[in-house]
Amino acid sequence: MMAKKESFDLIVVGSGPGGYVAAVRAAQLGLKVVCIEKESRVGGVCLNIGCIPSKALLDSSEYFLLAKDHFATHGIKTGRLNLDLPVLMARKEQVVRELTENVVNLLKRNKVKLIHGIARLKGEGRVAVLKNSGAGKTKHQTLEGKAVLLATGSSPVPLTGFEFDGKYIVSSTEALSFQSVPRHLVIVGGGYIGLELGSVWLRLGAKVTVLEMLPKIATTLDGQVSRALKRVLKKQGMEIRLQTKVSAIRTSARRVQVILSTDGKEEKLNCDRVLVAVGRKPLTHGLDLEAVGVETDPKTGHVRVNESYQTSIGNIYAIGDLIPGPMLAHKASAEGTAAAECIAGLPGEVNYDAIPSVVYTWPEVATVGLTEEEVKERAIPYCTGSYPFSGAGRARCMGETEGFVKLIAHAKTDRVLGVHIIGSRAADMIAEAVLAIEFGASSEDIARTVHGHPTFAEALQEAARTVNNCSIYV
Ligand code: FAD
Ligand code: NAD
Repeated sequence: MMAKKESFDLIVVGSGPGGYVAAVRAAQLGLKVVCIEKESRVGGVCLNIGCIPSKALLDSSEYFLLAKDHFATHGIKTGRLNLDLPVLMARKEQVVRELTENVVNLLKRNKVKLIHGIARLKGEGRVAVLKNSGAGKTKHQTLEGKAVLLATGSSPVPLTGFEFDGKYIVSSTEALSFQSVPRHLVIVGGGYIGLELGSVWLRLGAKVTVLEMLPKIATTLDGQVSRALKRVLKKQGMEIRLQTKVSAIRTSARRVQVILSTDGKEEKLNCDRVLVAVGRKPLTHGLDLEAVGVETDPKTGHVRVNESYQTSIGNIYAIGDLIPGPMLAHKASAEGTAAAECIAGLPGEVNYDAIPSVVYTWPEVATVGLTEEEVKERAIPYCTGSYPFSGAGRARCMGETEGFVKLIAHAKTDRVLGVHIIGSRAADMIAEAVLAIEFGASSEDIARTVHGHPTFAEALQEAARTVNNCSIYV
């Protein structure tokens, strides 16, 4: 069949939080835009098998835990609790469906053409799309664009020698949709996914064992916060083994055996499933980057870009999980906006010093800026201030006193360098700290800003006050 050609100002490959945001921003700036997505639903990993379904499960499982263990302290009697896992999963599906439909409407409203198909680079401004035309048949289409933006995201890294089998050795995708609560879930990797999905299944009744090869969990966190998180998760019943390596996984009918070693001592663990969550890698498969001359980092697989998100081929751009930096949805979206602005001839940029990250465990962990280990390593003179949630009135009212706020400020200028929070509502509280860093605020600025009372945010104000030793509550 003859290939059909169509021309655009911008061809966006991938409709995740990087791609769809870039497409909309570019269209708002007057460009004629097409977005290509290989899956039947838009929204990428984030909306379909990442941020959104995991948070829906975290929220449902938190309600279950609250009803089981905490309502009674508020004088609310519930009687015997039952878990209806199919309903919980159906609700998660509905949240995902609604949000992905919103993205389709957003693209339509902004006149972005959406094409479902697998994209492959054919040249500097040409993209081939392989479309499913029904009844097992496929159709090719070639698109021409003044610019191409790659936003194809990432995929889970398997454990060397023990590939995912979708049943016993699974990735986060399957762990978001288990049809029954595992009796014993072993998780390899104590990072974001391991701790969040481990929390979900622990709350719903599974025994959960996390195996982490390094000496701390959530390795990028400030050490003090990481230790506090480990303590509280252990208290909740999560078994966490640090400096532990997996040497083999044996699967037989319905049973899985994990052979692991801690400090050279070998041990066997029997379980029902193993969730491998040891990181994700850029997804470039099938794009034909090499043929076109788009350079990647041979070690990490990331696409190399300059500060305007241009790859080694001038009119091909890349953003999101595909390029270096934290693999986070809001980072991908910020880059999508900036790249679209650069492509439209505007000065788009992202402040990488002010990107928050959140681990949605209970309590939540939220952080922005430098950790104490990082300021020490860079020999920056610094002061810290911290404040426990047990001192915040609102936290007491809610019985959510676990955790603290830690603020790191420059010793000479008092400029805020980092804020690290472990506690209920940390995910929302961090926004104030992000703004402080974005605006170059000092800890005194936060200390002198009037905060509503009683709120969790008062703990941040108090932490800032302790930097200047003027807290009235210590
Ligand atoms: P993606 O979202 O991966 O989108 C890429 C899109 O490109 C996909 O739809 C894919 O189908 C499409 N595509 C790929 N190749 C082609 C091709 N050749 N042709 C056409 N289309 C193609 N981040 C957070 O900030 N907060 C969270 O709470 C959070 N939770 C997460 C939970 C889990 C379980 C996981 C796995 C990830 C989570 N993340 C979270 C990370 C977040 O999902 C990613 O950082 C984000 O989705 C990256 O966005 P992206 O646009 O770069 O890529
Ligand atoms: P991660 O990088 O967060 O954690 C992986 C962990 O596995 C690390 O602690 C690492 O030391 C450990 N590890 C690596 N190899 C190992 C091995 N052989 N044995 C034992 N441990 C090993 O990766 P992830 O949890 O897979 O998540 C992938 C990415 O997705 C994250 O980096 C994050 O960017 C994103 N994500 C974000 C959120 C969020 O923002 N709340 C949630 C989920 C995922």
